Amino acid sequence: MRSRGGSGRLSFPASMGATAESRAEPADSSLPDGVAVAGTASVLVIEDEPGIVDFICRGLRAEGFEVEAALDGVEGERLALSGRFDVVVLDLMLPLRGGLDVLDTLHRTLPGMPVIVLTARGEIEDRVRGLETGAVDYLVKPFSMAELVARLRAQLRALAHASASTMSVEDIEVDLLTRKVKRDGIEVALSTTEFELLVYLCRHHGQVVSREQILGSVWGYEHDPGTNVVDVYVGYLRRKLRRPGNPAPITTVRAVGYRLGGAG
Ligand code: CA
Repeated sequence: MRSRGGSGRLSFPASMGATAESRAEPADSSLPDGVAVAGTASVLVIEDEPGIVDFICRGLRAEGFEVEAALDGVEGERLALSGRFDVVVLDLMLPLRGGLDVLDTLHRTLPGMPVIVLTARGEIEDRVRGLETGAVDYLVKPFSMAELVARLRAQLRALAHASASTMSVEDIEVDLLTRKVKRDGIEVALSTTEFELLVYLCRHHGQVVSREQILGSVWGYEHDPGTNVVDVYVGYLRRKLRRPGNPAPITTVRAVGYRLGGAG
């Protein structure tokens, strides 16, 4: 039986125990699309209210997720750190160890792990504290299964994107998510503009790119304003990337522009 009027969304009051109403809504086309989630994405649910656990587990399984649940913060943290899960759904008010403490541990130990924090409406201050510790998303109880699934899919998309967001050209590595750059395994500190310039060159590695192309993509100029800003920044980048006896692999192509890495 559906609750909350005719919206088609299955919701539950935060205090509701396990009843027939916490039956999961079957997959339906009203759920937000998005990039299909790999059928085996694993979700850990850390929540102590049996009705909510039941609701979430059944709903997510119907959507093709693998789900495990922990009913207290200690067990939840232990499971979360096992590395078996792609995303964690975390209640804040938990026995034995509070959700914010679990969140702290997760962010320190597994900084890339997406977490969706479940909060009751009265926990606004906790939400702010949670944000400071880097929680990735929030869902206020009561929520619908469609909302939870949408948030999970968004997190998993972000995760898939993050894992695809390192580039390496020759001995230069660029992490688009952390914005860290290494040459030959040694970190190089770049300014924002230098970083954007390097990313542009990496994306076109082996190709000659003109000053105009670089100006358009990195600085957003539609026309060359007649500055030498590109040459200046290429100079900065070369200086920061060079190693003794090993200059930065950025070639000047006379009268055209620049090329990162070998030709072709
Ligand atoms: Ca709780």
